[in-house]
Amino acid sequence: MKNVKRMFINGQWLLSSSEKTKDIINPATGEIVAVVTEGQDNDVILAVESAKIAFKDDSVWRSMSAEERGALLYKIADLIEKRIDEIARTECINTGKLFRETRYDDVYAAIGAFRFYGGIAASLQGHTSNNSNNLLSMTIREPIGICSIIVPWNYPLGTASASIAPALAAGNTIIVKPSSLTPLTTIMLFEIFEEAGLPAGAANLVLGSGSNIGKELITNKNVNKIVFTGSTKTGMDIIQDSSSSLKKLALELGGKSPVIVFDDVDIDLVVDNVMFGIFLSQGQVCVAGSRLLVQEGIYDKLVETLVKRVGSIKIGMPFDENAEFGPLISKEHMACVLNYIVVGIREGAKLAVGGKRIVDGDFEKGCFVEPTVFIDCKSNMRIVKEEIFGPVLTVQSFSTEQEAIDIANDTIYGLAGAVFTKDIGKALRVCKFVKSGLLWVNTYLEAGSSLPVSPYKQSGIGVMGGIQGLEEFTILKQINMSLNPKKTNWFQNDDKRKEGGL
Ligand code: NAD
Repeated sequence: MKNVKRMFINGQWLLSSSEKTKDIINPATGEIVAVVTEGQDNDVILAVESAKIAFKDDSVWRSMSAEERGALLYKIADLIEKRIDEIARTECINTGKLFRETRYDDVYAAIGAFRFYGGIAASLQGHTSNNSNNLLSMTIREPIGICSIIVPWNYPLGTASASIAPALAAGNTIIVKPSSLTPLTTIMLFEIFEEAGLPAGAANLVLGSGSNIGKELITNKNVNKIVFTGSTKTGMDIIQDSSSSLKKLALELGGKSPVIVFDDVDIDLVVDNVMFGIFLSQGQVCVAGSRLLVQEGIYDKLVETLVKRVGSIKIGMPFDENAEFGPLISKEHMACVLNYIVVGIREGAKLAVGGKRIVDGDFEKGCFVEPTVFIDCKSNMRIVKEEIFGPVLTVQSFSTEQEAIDIANDTIYGLAGAVFTKDIGKALRVCKFVKSGLLWVNTYLEAGSSLPVSPYKQSGIGVMGGIQGLEEFTILKQINMSLNPKKTNWFQNDDKRKEGGL
């Protein structure tokens, strides 16, 4: 068990009492890159107990001021930055994402989250009200308590950090469960927490599959909030499982985001952005622009350009500097994506490019599927309706602005979307009427805003990001102080009440 990676509970690196382990596989090569301990319910109970003790009013963690917590988050960001290459390499080996993506996107997203929430940790405020001469009222914000943070495999360090940073900034204690497929950079993050001097128990790490330890994280009576990022199906299970103890929920779920292209655009520029929106990370991005809606006048020309460009994407090993596209996360997920491609063909969509697993030479042991485009799709097809979470783009045509909005909204999801047009009025109208929480105009996936976002429909519940994302990790408590303490005279005889009771 010497090289087995461990959980971090109450400031200690621990093996699970299950004595089971799980191999972590590089999806590009099929090689085992690490072995991790496999947790069970007892480990979660231990982690919750540790978080509970660390949340006591007189604990080291609770005694820290917001400024001190902010400074600690800044230190964590600096330590991540110091290990940036090592962390990016590990993320690359574990997820199969291209190294240049993990190096310049994923790890910086984590650094950015800790710096942003470190910077605003001390900015949480309540309000006062003096509406009455007799009463001074105020609200104060307090941490919610113990938070279970459950993370998916597609953006492990970035997603974990996006929830951990505000949770800690607000003064909560946490138990983090990464996906059992991709725990490696989260383990590194906890090494950094230890090095930064985060008080024992403030942040705990448990390792294991959702089916093994998920339920305890959701139902444990001492857990106050669940922060879940993952599929809509699991999100629905979590709502049910957590209902008996009515926990606070933040759910960031799936998407099937529309990209609407009007006929006044520069086709090359749009195609470039559309490809970035769907094929970055091999389509394994929650906000991937997976439904392309093109106005009739440019449909044929745009499809021709798109198909040509997609056909020449350079598929390669994640560390190859020339590679533009890598493997999917696992054999199971690859089988699921390939099955959707078969479904699309059966449904009558026209496969314009891609569609096959790549098995030549080095690719044979990995999980590589060609970037795929289906054209002439209809809204009732499964490949248009369901989240594939892979490199599959569906293309539909529309004639009017209203038709584009109607098709865009014909989905159970409401995560993201985009509009491409030179007409600013049209762009803003589409943004107003498309029911998605995050919209881009003439760009896709461009990040840099520190504003919050909330999903529509079955894409989730709650607010992520920004100062509002920090407030989501607090309870708003109202306190009312009498400026003129007096008897209520409620329980008096009628005469006395007439004299000045309520
Ligand atoms: P998933 O729902 O299968 O798993 C997510 C996490 O939940 C994993 O850690 C898993 O072990 C755990 N889990 C599974 N079943 C559980 C249960 N019953 N109780 C508690 N935990 C459980 O999702 P995935 O396949 O890892 O990730 C892909 C999905 O995540 C896609 O649908 C994608 O759109 C979504 N996602 C959403 C966002 C967002 O911000 N909206 C971001 C990234 C990914």
